[in-house]
Amino acid sequence: MSRRRINYRTQYPLRWREMVAQVRVRSGNRCEGSPAYPECRAENGKSHPVTGSIVMLTTAHLHEGDDTRTMTDLSRLAHQCQRCHLTMDAKLHARRAAETRRLRRIEAGQLTLGVAS
Ligand SMILES: [Zn+2]
Repeated sequence: MSRRRINYRTQYPLRWREMVAQVRVRSGNRCEGSPAYPECRAENGKSHPVTGSIVMLTTAHLHEGDDTRTMTDLSRLAHQCQRCHLTMDAKLHARRAAETRRLRRIEAGQLTLGVAS
């Protein structure tokens, strides 16, 4: 059985790198917080003050329903540390993992019975 993954990169706008650079300037290269940790200001490349992990900032979508291919509003993006981004996207990641498992079952020839994974 192949271990293909769904490619979500095609869902990003063409000027994504430029948008990320603008968010980085706005954030001062620090986490901009999340609903769970609104005061987080962990600095990129430094030890996270709570988790101790080296911070690797990524750019997060703040509104799950946004069409990311056409989105240009930087206020709907935030620079976030791993703790903020993973906490905020936990439900999305669980749904994608379930979809990947479902597709692999179909690919393996298993029938689906309409039962959630
Ligand atoms: Zn954070």
